[in-house]
Amino acid sequence: MLAGLSAISLFSYLRARSLIDLQIVKNDLPLTSEAIVSGLEHDLLQPILASGLMADNTFLEDAISRGEYEPKLLTDYLQGVQDKTGAITTFLASERTGRYYHPSGVLKRLSPVDPQDSWYYRFRNSRQLIEINIDRDTANLSRVTAFINVRLQDAGGRFLGATGLGLDVRLLQDQLSRYQQRFGARILLVDRLGRIVISSDDRRGNLSQIAGLGPLSRRILQQASTSLKVQENGRDFYVRATRIKEIGWTLVVIQERTAEQSAFMGLLTQNLVAAVLIGVVLLILAQLTLGRDQQRLEAIAQTDNLSGLLNRRVFEQLFQQLVALAKRRDEPLAVALMDIDHFKQVNDTHGHLVGDAVICHVSRRLKSHLRESDPLFRWGGEEFLLLLPGCDLEEAQVRLASIRTDLAHHPLDTDDTAGPLGVTMSFGLTLHQPGESSSQLLHRVDKALYEAKHAGRDRICISPSVPM
Ligand code: GH3
Ligand code: MG
Ligand code: MG
Repeated sequence: MLAGLSAISLFSYLRARSLIDLQIVKNDLPLTSEAIVSGLEHDLLQPILASGLMADNTFLEDAISRGEYEPKLLTDYLQGVQDKTGAITTFLASERTGRYYHPSGVLKRLSPVDPQDSWYYRFRNSRQLIEINIDRDTANLSRVTAFINVRLQDAGGRFLGATGLGLDVRLLQDQLSRYQQRFGARILLVDRLGRIVISSDDRRGNLSQIAGLGPLSRRILQQASTSLKVQENGRDFYVRATRIKEIGWTLVVIQERTAEQSAFMGLLTQNLVAAVLIGVVLLILAQLTLGRDQQRLEAIAQTDNLSGLLNRRVFEQLFQQLVALAKRRDEPLAVALMDIDHFKQVNDTHGHLVGDAVICHVSRRLKSHLRESDPLFRWGGEEFLLLLPGCDLEEAQVRLASIRTDLAHHPLDTDDTAGPLGVTMSFGLTLHQPGESSSQLLHRVDKALYEAKHAGRDRICISPSVPM
């Protein structure tokens, strides 16, 4: 029963736990990461779209094809884009003239040997249409900027240069930190190779170095989106990764259980313990109750309803015990069979209820003369059997005689006008012989009783045949 109860409790605990996990992985985390993605859309994707538009804009293509005669028009255009997108910088690098345009003017000429310009040549050779590149700003070297570089080409696919805009990494970082605070999740932006580009806790490195994620990082980078649960130092983490297809970066949201969820888990654990404890208590109570019931049932099975005396069913067992005890102690064991005289007349004259009352009355009188160790059985209708361990014939005879006298002095009070009802009994008495079976003994004692009846009742007869 305890095992069953524990199993049920454990099962519901595990079920609730997996439901919470499922809730986090399938519900909370996607919602969190959707919210973050849509937030990032504003901060990151809008500028990406804007820079895409810059590349598609025929204005730049025209101005470059016409020989870049009016640099002011180009720098004004860059200023306009910067104002509209909230970018911290915008730029145009022209392949033909090598000029690097900035809203404030033409800053410099690109040079293949200048390490600061290496991004331009790398991007040109990569043949990518768009890339994000974290770098120091040529216009402001103290600032780390996320550059969105877009390829400019004419209708024939000829490379004209690179244009784009720069976002303040610190602002993006702050934004991710705000998300981290709001959603309680760690947020990373990783590039195609899993390098952490920006993270909400400002930590760098590679996705594969994050505890618990190592072997999974390849899978995370390969799939468009991933949801999984990892365990690290006994703590559960839920990971959701979404690829931002425009730039090829992956947004990774790592969330631990919330305080409420952990509290709920704690509650589940307490419930489990409580259920087992209650089970143990119930089991003990059940054991006690069953034990008591068992004893009561045994007592009922051994007792006669009307008189409360022992019944015939337990005779054999008790008899064998007393025979063994007598043998061990080398003591006699006396047996008496007693029958109420003319009982049929009592029933016929006064009715069965009075007959029953007589049986009870006689039972009480008999019991009042017995020791604890003397078993008394209601043997039949108005017949009683008494075992007297340790009594020889003489002593047994004395005790039966006192019972007989007692009955004579205690008639039963009835409502009958004839007054109290006198009751007499006939007694057969004998000693158990060594090796004698119960049926042999009962046969002999029955004979003695028969003799007492035959001799006129209200007397004691001793087997083999000594009437008194
Ligand atoms: P004797 O002196 O020879 O024993 O005569 P008796 O009338 O007592 O003998 P008998 O055995 O013929 O009668 C016993 C009667 O006891 C018969 C039966 O109806 C009645 N009897 C048996 N059990 C009960 C009982 O539980 N209650 C009542 N009221 N009567 C019972
Ligand atoms: Mg009788
Ligand atoms: Mg009888």
